[in-house]
Parts: sequence; C-alpha cells; structure tokens
Amino acid sequence: MASKFYSIFSLKCPTCHRGELFPTPSFSFRQPFAQYKYCPACGQSYFPEPGFYYGAMFISYIGSGFFCLGVVMFLHWVLDWSMGASFAALIAIVAILFVWWFRVSRSAYLNLVFGFKPDIAAAVDAGALQIPPPDVVKST
Ligand SMILES: [Zn+2]
Repeated sequence: MASKFYSIFSLKCPTCHRGELFPTPSFSFRQPFAQYKYCPACGQSYFPEPGFYYGAMFISYIGSGFFCLGVVMFLHWVLDWSMGASFAALIAIVAILFVWWFRVSRSAYLNLVFGFKPDIAAAVDAGALQIPPPDVVKST
C-alpha cells in the first residue's frame, strides 16, 4: 500500500516506480497537460485504451470537491474570515494546485489498474530493458 502512495504522489510509473509520468515538473506550469505515451524506463503504456483517463476525472472531481469545501469551511468558520475572503483564498490555492491535482488524479487512476512489478523494477535497475524515448501526448 505504501508503494501505491509513493507511485501516486511522486508521479512515477505504477509498474516500475522508476520512470516519470510527465515530462515537466508540476509546479513549473510548462506543458501542464503533456504526458508520456509510455514509461521511459520500462515501457508500460500510460494510454492503454482510448478515453482511459475518463475515470481520473471522477477522482479529480471528488477530491477537489471535498478539498474546496474543507478549505472554505475552515477559513470561514474556524478562522472567521468573510465569505468573500474565503473564496478568494480558495481560488488562489486551487489555481496553484490545479496542475498537480490533475496529475495526481491521473496517477491514482493508473495505479488502480496497474500494480508494482518487482521483477520489472529489477530489470530497469539492471539496465536490461532498452526503451526508446517516448512521445508526449499533449492532451486527451
Ligand atoms: Zn515503468
């Protein structure tokens, strides 16, 4: 289970935990929706079928919905901020986190479908796999 959390939040390949899912850092805000077609380390496909990430949208929606509720309730009820200030702060927080959250949602969805394979990770570490550099999918 801990390895699932590692893969999801480090945005690494669910199969080998070595290759990156995305070519740019989340908080660079460059090419926010670009994603590798497959794992640069082990070749695991990140787009196993058309419309694969439709389900990730629901993870994103549920997570961000409860997050937004929690932030506004905390600011308004606990810190006694006005409703306008609470929503202004929420918009700022969400603007900063949206690329990261989009990516974590996709990573979580990939991890629902694919599990860690120690033998593939060992092959990657040993340099036994020759994977050509993957194309980048700009958005789906
Ligand atoms: Zn991999």
